Amino acid sequence: MATGPGSTRARFVVVGGGVAGVTCTEQLAGLFPSDDILLITASPLIKAVINFKQVSRTLEEFEVEERPTHMLEEHYPNVKVIQSAVRGLDAAQHKLHTEEGKEYIYEKLCICAGGRPKLIVKGNPYVLGIRDTDSAKEFQSRLARAKRITVVGNGGIALELVYEIEGCEVIWAIKDEAIGNTFFDAGAAEFLIPQLKADKPEATLPCKRTKYTTEGLEQEKESAAEDGALGSALGPDWHEGMKLKGTKQISHRVHVEYQCAIDKIYLQEEFVSSQKTSLAFPKNVSEEIKGKIDEETWPVYVQLTNGKIYGSDLIVSATGVIPNVEPFVANNPFDVAEDGGLKVDEQMHTSVPDIFAAGDVCTVSWEPRALWQQMRLWTQARQMGYYAAKCIAAEMSGESIELDFCFESFAHVTKFFNYKVVLLGNYNGQGLGTDHELLLRCTRGQEYVKTVMQNGRMKGAVLIGEADLEETFENLILNQMDLSAYGEDLLNPNIDIEDYFD
Ligand code: FAD
Repeated sequence: MATGPGSTRARFVVVGGGVAGVTCTEQLAGLFPSDDILLITASPLIKAVINFKQVSRTLEEFEVEERPTHMLEEHYPNVKVIQSAVRGLDAAQHKLHTEEGKEYIYEKLCICAGGRPKLIVKGNPYVLGIRDTDSAKEFQSRLARAKRITVVGNGGIALELVYEIEGCEVIWAIKDEAIGNTFFDAGAAEFLIPQLKADKPEATLPCKRTKYTTEGLEQEKESAAEDGALGSALGPDWHEGMKLKGTKQISHRVHVEYQCAIDKIYLQEEFVSSQKTSLAFPKNVSEEIKGKIDEETWPVYVQLTNGKIYGSDLIVSATGVIPNVEPFVANNPFDVAEDGGLKVDEQMHTSVPDIFAAGDVCTVSWEPRALWQQMRLWTQARQMGYYAAKCIAAEMSGESIELDFCFESFAHVTKFFNYKVVLLGNYNGQGLGTDHELLLRCTRGQEYVKTVMQNGRMKGAVLIGEADLEETFENLILNQMDLSAYGEDLLNPNIDIEDYFD
């Protein structure tokens, strides 16, 4: 690592210690063992992918370990980790500036700065976003004193939250007609809804997803909280081992308000002086229809676009993320996508020379393969970090490489409401127009299997429960075999479909 007066020079610089940045750094370290690689990250802990397993051609499983930065340096002698936030970039000069006033000069840069929660309002002390370990802990401690909270949003975080929270009434406001719209259709939502009303099982199903290992890292975390650092995003199972419990002696108590958004938020004083009334938590359908007036006073109130008002102790804003692009885009000619991400091409290259990007901070601007779509997920962060390192290596030798196979077809395995959920290809009929049809198989409380068919070909699938069909369906989606002859027998539980196609 060459150091001039006041500046450090490294061949490769990666910004961000989340899954994308760490995977990219590890790959670069392996590809260029005699070159210096600098990882600059605002968080004192980095996220390492461990026990990676390619379950099938596109489905993968791994665990994520939060580690102190020195572990990466010990493993890769050519890697140095700088714990500091990047405050500015001078792309023409190939220079980064950190908050400590230091300057770093790169030959190739990969930006993996992730994103932060999109808050419905800024600066309201009762509105919380969950992104990293610290914000999750703050939420946990505030929930411990709460009788009722409002959750806004219908993505993965909201879904996990409303299921996990116990001992607290939850008003869940979603803009769609059904829960979990990002991940599945109304049928799957119907299948899952009873779980919100049932008591949670004591022992949960064995976890199929990535897990955090955070034991023994309390000290580092505390100092992170003091620094107010930009932490890495949480991911699957972020709530495991974390008690999400309010003050009431109840299991689930969730009331969903469909097709609405937040119209206005009132603090207690403002609400009281407005002389408006709020609604009590509906205990049954008739209370929901009649709309009982709430006698209690709450710290904060939400007025929904459907006119209803509810009071609560806290509002959780789970409405997606905003890519952390600000320190990079100021004064540099980046193409920024509508969703705020840095646009990347098929080589993970941004619009600025020698700068690549991966993970939540970037937006794919290539024409994606018909069966793939970008989603800001842990698996895609890993895949992009890995592929970006290969693209950087290719550019160093003046070549370009073929798009990685992982971008051929969308594949994600997760867990919602204690069920294993596998999503494949155009699982919600994305981009298929209206001439597709759905095949369904559903056993209440056990499994929900849906395939999306077009011209006799399988374009996508949703598997909830232990259907164990993911590998067969993945193959059928990837090879686009004509399945017209099988008709509805494709999902006939009496036919061992695996034997048919394997
Ligand atoms: P991040 O993990 O956000 O890492 C960004 C890194 O950049 C951090 O280390 C940060 O400190 C650093 N950084 C930021 N700005 C700067 C700067 N200016 N200078 C230096 N460093 C900087 N995904 C799933 O697949 N399944 C799930 O079930 C799931 N659940 C989730 C639940 C929650 C509560 C949250 C918040 C996310 C969830 N996700 C889930 C999403 C997943 O966690 C993210 O997609 C993934 O972690 C993104 O990785 P990343 O490396 O791109 O960004």
